[in-house]
Amino acid sequence: MSLSDVKHWVFDMDGTLTVAVHDFAAIRVALEIPPEEDILTHLAALPAQVAVAKHAWLLEHERELALGSVAAVGAVELVRELAGRGYRLGILTRNARELAHITLEAIGLADCFAVEDVLGRDDAPPKPDPGGLLKLAAAWDVSPSEMVMVGDYRFDLDCGRAAGAKTVLVNLPQNPWPALADWHAQDCAALRQMI
Ligand SMILES: [Mg+2]
Repeated sequence: MSLSDVKHWVFDMDGTLTVAVHDFAAIRVALEIPPEEDILTHLAALPAQVAVAKHAWLLEHERELALGSVAAVGAVELVRELAGRGYRLGILTRNARELAHITLEAIGLADCFAVEDVLGRDDAPPKPDPGGLLKLAAAWDVSPSEMVMVGDYRFDLDCGRAAGAKTVLVNLPQNPWPALADWHAQDCAALRQMI
């Protein structure tokens, strides 16, 4: 399948459509999470009372970041091009859904995504689990093999692979995971040239 044939596109948000601003090391320090541990997995394993407080801190921290979001190079033009062709577009993020909407508003792309096609960490198991992609495939009544997952991290690629979708890596000049990415583009502007 050629990339220009794909009509069902799912995007990671932070670092893919936006300039990455999360300082995960600082978040781990603030929440007393060991450097090697996954933040969401760590929080999920805590006693409920502690987890609630730390989730609340994380949400507030991320809300500040969402309000100040800046679009990544070429992201607005790429998404507008795809939306203009009438393609189905979704978001699959480990961020919270309400913050995904705030972020899309901030970068001027909110009208390109149906509200129900923006999946946050409470709507599906977090990537690299393929659950979110499979949920969108079912909602769109399309085979995952006809979808592409676009992201800037290996979780996005692992998620796409596990779902049976195609994968695109953006915003990393070197491609550290050539075996996991079907296509690699320097940024969304370069990706737009490939469709
Ligand atoms: Mg990302």
